[in-house]
Amino acid sequence: MKHQKPKGTADILPSESFKWQYIENVSKEVLDTYGFHEVRTPMFEDYELFQRGVGETSDVVSKEMYDFYDKGDRHIALRPEGTASVVRAYVENKLYGPEHNKPQKLYYIGPMFRYENPQGGRMRQFHQLGVEVFGSASPQTDVEVMLMAVELFEKLGLQNLKLVINSLGDVDSRKLYHQALVDYFQPHADQLSKDSQKRLEKNPLRILDSKEKQDQQFVEGAPEILDYLDEDSKDHLEAVCLLLDDLDIEYTVDPTMVRGLDYYTDTVFEIMSDDKVFGNITTICAGGRYDNLVSDMGGPETPAFGFALGLERVLLTLESLGVELPRPQSLDVYVVGIGGENVRQAAFKIVQQLRQAGLKADKDYLDRKPKAQFKSADRLNARSVMILGEEELEEGSVSIKEMTQGRQDKIALEDLERADFAHRFEDKLNQLTEENGED
Ligand code: ATP
Ligand code: MG
Repeated sequence: MKHQKPKGTADILPSESFKWQYIENVSKEVLDTYGFHEVRTPMFEDYELFQRGVGETSDVVSKEMYDFYDKGDRHIALRPEGTASVVRAYVENKLYGPEHNKPQKLYYIGPMFRYENPQGGRMRQFHQLGVEVFGSASPQTDVEVMLMAVELFEKLGLQNLKLVINSLGDVDSRKLYHQALVDYFQPHADQLSKDSQKRLEKNPLRILDSKEKQDQQFVEGAPEILDYLDEDSKDHLEAVCLLLDDLDIEYTVDPTMVRGLDYYTDTVFEIMSDDKVFGNITTICAGGRYDNLVSDMGGPETPAFGFALGLERVLLTLESLGVELPRPQSLDVYVVGIGGENVRQAAFKIVQQLRQAGLKADKDYLDRKPKAQFKSADRLNARSVMILGEEELEEGSVSIKEMTQGRQDKIALEDLERADFAHRFEDKLNQLTEENGED
């Protein structure tokens, strides 16, 4: 019986996985220059962690959770996002303690799970890279983290991205705003989508985040959160804008951007792509400040700021822009054996020596004819082929053929034992390549 992968998941094959590795490596370099360290938390957590952390009225919790009861009757959920877990780990492991530097700058990369309708850039298992900074209320932290995201995208070759920011203020201003939204939407309640009618009762802010067309017309005229901010939040937003201006970073303030998760306070931001692969404008990276979440989860009062970016969406955008990610270096050498069992045994030993010398080496394992072995070398994009025959074995040497120019030379088998063999081999190949160029 043949099986198929679950809906909304993907197999990432070697023809794609090198791209993931490239993105991860570039990201890690950038994260490193900003002083972030990796944290790895479990792929599943208690359901209540997300229910309380992400918020009961968010789509993520109310509609998209992969949850189940385990054999011990614990209510478990596959993580739909990273922040709740990282905050839980921060509090549980007391990373706020005096022996830890402030702010703590953490990052994670890994799969997330949401029960969604799969479509371009929307999966049930997808991957996020996220960062969290704990312990700084400074607007410089907001800007630094946004800049890091922008820098990351630039390093990867993503262009035409837009930085959009907004402020959600503190709990008190949001209460006032909450009431203003209820007053505004109530008269149109029966014209709103079913979901938004529910949101109107539970969390009217969510209506602004609605993707339904019928809600959109009302969202446009809705009151703006910016008019409800208190002085501190206004100052904070102004400081963020000044810092961005000072660095000549382009951005827009969009007062309707509220984000899908409940824990944000003050600054929120998105980095969007208007690339046609997504049909309409899509968010690639999203985040913001969440100054209450750590204390809500039982830790000390700790201001925090973070973001998560979707790796599938990064890849889709890169693809659509025609950005070629560098392929990893192919095989250095493919060992072709021509002869009987003694040659095959020698080839097996040699390929092992080549690997120990630090070269990427491979050989035939199916007793194939020389022609088929050369074909394998081609398919593996080997830079060179080492040819081993009965005669060469007796002589104690092998032929080496540089594949781009087709030039050959001999190497003494005993050279394989030398500590600097990999260097000498590289020199030899360069020589063979160049000699031809001079002709
Ligand atoms: P959207 O509004 O597109 O549903 P969201 O607000 O649910 O996104 P966040 O929870 O803020 O997204 O997650 C941050 C990023 O993770 C998104 O900007 C996106 O790049 C990525 N992401 C979220 N959900 C998915 C998904 N189901 N499949 C692929 N990527 C996703
Ligand atoms: Mg979503």
